[in-house]
Amino acid sequence: MVVEIDYNNCDGIDCSGCKDACPTDVFGVEGSKIVVSNADECTFCMMCEDLCPADAVKVKN
Ligand code: SF4
Ligand code: SF4
Repeated sequence: MVVEIDYNNCDGIDCSGCKDACPTDVFGVEGSKIVVSNADECTFCMMCEDLCPADAVKVKN
């Protein structure tokens, strides 16, 4: 799976919605950024895309 964050729109740790919701801990934190640290664990549940308020996370199979 490919999981990408658009940093032009992402609010980082002020949001953390995708990180908090992901059931398989795909996301991590680096400084004030949310990063994709574990894309291999993604189950394509689409929760992160559905909840992102900034439309900043994209998941591709
Ligand atoms: S839910 Fe969207 S805005 Fe929030 S941290 Fe994740 S990618 Fe960024
Ligand atoms: S699609 Fe689901 S499993 Fe994959 S990164 Fe988003 S929340 Fe996590």
